[in-house]
Amino acid sequence: MYSDVVVLSIGHSARDTFNILFEKGVHISQKPFSIGVRIEHLKETINKSQYGRFYNHPKLKAADYKLSHRAKNGRAVYTFCMCPGGYVVASASEENMVVTNGMSEFARNNINSNSAILVSVSPEDFPSNHPLSGVEFQRIYEKKAFEISNSYYAPVQLFGDFLKSKKSSKFGKITPTYRPGTIFYDLNKIFPDYISSALKEGILAMGKKLKGFSDYNSLLTGVETRSSSPIRIERNENYESINVEGLYPTGEGAGYAGGITSSAVDGIRVAEKIISKYKKGW
Ligand SMILES: Cc1cc2nc3c(=O)[nH]c(=O)nc-3n(C[C@H](O)[C@H](O)[C@H](O)COP(=O)(O)OP(=O)(O)OC[C@H]3O[C@@H](n4cnc5c(N)ncnc54)[C@H](O)[C@@H]3O)c2cc1C
Repeated sequence: MYSDVVVLSIGHSARDTFNILFEKGVHISQKPFSIGVRIEHLKETINKSQYGRFYNHPKLKAADYKLSHRAKNGRAVYTFCMCPGGYVVASASEENMVVTNGMSEFARNNINSNSAILVSVSPEDFPSNHPLSGVEFQRIYEKKAFEISNSYYAPVQLFGDFLKSKKSSKFGKITPTYRPGTIFYDLNKIFPDYISSALKEGILAMGKKLKGFSDYNSLLTGVETRSSSPIRIERNENYESINVEGLYPTGEGAGYAGGITSSAVDGIRVAEKIISKYKKGW
């Protein structure tokens, strides 16, 4: 089937389609993104820190937060996709890989709250100059996480043990929400030092802003690698691919948005560009 207009809104994990597009010659570039872990606390800890003595008030929903820190090695460390009263969820899109993400149900009534805690990475960190090398970079950590137990169990560690590079042996007050299950592991062995050290520094700094955030028992679950797209499908001022006329890379997968709202807005912008191109003929 042929068409004059193809809107390509494939999401940031359509690795098979990324490959096809690259092989067909569509212009793709590397792009910075972030990787890290999920950090889980008791919802009550976060509520107390944010709401003080009103933490139990029935009219208040589970509290959220947004924290950031610039590490000494220059990396940005930040929380992302905070899920109050939510769950850490499995999000692998390929076999034999472990990937975490997070979600809350409408009631936000689970016992834990979690967030991604991420460190910025850029093309200089990737294994090669190949336009899809960011995907290879993601795969390194997703595969390492899988190979710990050769299963979809995610590696977990108490933050206090992460600081000491010591494998945890039992959970504290917080038990993981990740399914199908977890395995204790020293996360320092998964990540390069520039990620681990930035995570440690960032979490400690955030603990000064949000009481309880950097407690010994705060639970880290790895790995979070899909914060945003590792590629950009380059487009011109008309939002078309720079070398394939009529192809409109759109949303998160194209590397022009991150999250639900910005992806939707990008879709509207692309639709407007297509309308303006064709309306003269209507
Ligand atoms: C567990 C989880 C929780 C999240 N929570 C939040 C949140 O709270 N807030 C937030 O802002 N964002 C959240 N996100 C991120 C959000 O889902 C994405 O940013 C957003 O959906 C991107 O929109 P998109 O339209 O660009 O791509 P997507 O929503 O990923 O849609 C891409 C679609 O293209 C399809 N596709 C891929 N390749 C092909 C092909 N070759 N042919 C046909 N179809 C194809 C895919 O199957 C998919 O349906 C979350 C993501 C996950 C996984």
